[in-house]
Amino acid sequence: MGDGGEMNKVAMTAEDIKVLDAQDTLTWARKAFHLPDGLIYLDGNSLGPLPEKALDRVVETVAEHWGKGLVSSWNDAGWFKKPLELGARIAPMIGAAGGQVVVTDNISVNLFKLVCAALALRPDRTEIISDIANFPSDLYVLDGISRLLPGITIKLIGRDGTLEALLGDQTAAVVLTAVDFRSGALLDMAGITQKVQDAGALTLWDLAHSAGAMPVALDAINADMAVGCTYKYLNAGPGAPAFLYVSERHHDAARTPIAGWFGHADPFAFSPDYIPSTGISQFLSGTPPILSYAPLEASLEIWEKIDMADVRKKSLRLTSLFMKLVDALSPTYGFEIITPRVPSGRGSQVSIRHPRGLAIMRALIARGIVGDFRAPDILRFGFTPLTLSFHEVFEAVQILDDIMATESWRGFSNNSASGVT
Ligand SMILES: *Cc1c(COP(=O)(O)O)cnc(C)c1O
Repeated sequence: MGDGGEMNKVAMTAEDIKVLDAQDTLTWARKAFHLPDGLIYLDGNSLGPLPEKALDRVVETVAEHWGKGLVSSWNDAGWFKKPLELGARIAPMIGAAGGQVVVTDNISVNLFKLVCAALALRPDRTEIISDIANFPSDLYVLDGISRLLPGITIKLIGRDGTLEALLGDQTAAVVLTAVDFRSGALLDMAGITQKVQDAGALTLWDLAHSAGAMPVALDAINADMAVGCTYKYLNAGPGAPAFLYVSERHHDAARTPIAGWFGHADPFAFSPDYIPSTGISQFLSGTPPILSYAPLEASLEIWEKIDMADVRKKSLRLTSLFMKLVDALSPTYGFEIITPRVPSGRGSQVSIRHPRGLAIMRALIARGIVGDFRAPDILRFGFTPLTLSFHEVFEAVQILDDIMATESWRGFSNNSASGVT
């Protein structure tokens, strides 16, 4: 099966699971998060759990900084510098040296800004490459850019050809997501970056399912630009702002299309002329979401005590265990794991295809096993090493087995839901 672990050889027993939990160096982190009792949360790849200290930070920001400090908190509580300060704290998690990351807006808006900036860095080129399987919002943003700039066309891997076939002297930028949101497949970021740059184009990486899930090495792979969110593996809560990365070598020439006052060289000069700031802060737009930064600070206080190599090691063990346990059920129940087996080929989620996937996921959620579902038939399970135990993975698969064996999923609709899934 190629995942090379000792887990493939032996049947897993409750005793084996105890050993895995006993070897886990991250168990302390679980206590830093609030998770409701009786729930096995396998959806931290969609919305990360609440850091215990988040509420304190929110209360402090609202009651003290806003309530008492009022407008002086822009300076006294450091509000004005938050986008840069928090960017500097996220930077080591994605392998970025200082001064290249800010926290602001959401991924979609940041992607728009950076794709436009990339196009301006390659003014003689007319094409952007992405992937038909990319996160739809990323594709919508690209589509919007092509309508705004009529000379620009979007080429999609999986629809128009392979990356190799599409790359050429018209390629301005390649926009890819490091870990596929449906399958959990991890791309060879270093190899692709090299290939894209050999063709004279820029890379723009979406790190939504990789930041906080594994070590990312943007500087080491010579990445050009990247975006990512903080509400998935980074646990900063619903609506938490996204981050963006622009390699320092592009700071002088790149220009954001959303030229707002927070990206101005001197916002409080109130000049009618836009003069961009010099560093990464030029990619800010308007007033940042100060209240939404508070939970991110609580989360980063935890993350700063954590070695991303340990996160990756545990993540691979969790996903490997889950796949092994599901493999034992697959011949009986018709599960198909679509996540790559090779460790270098997967992120921190496992996706299973089943024609009754939605009904099965609803049955799981009713039993306290929270994953999610992606149309048309994918059950998605995210593994957040900071909060999950091996025992929980074991128990989740036992309950899956029970739901299948008793056919209790028949009590749930397999028709697609409305609202958030
Ligand atoms: C979750 C996710 C997003 C979210 O984008 P927002 O604009 O921040 O809502 C974008 N891209 C990918 C790959 C995602 O998984």
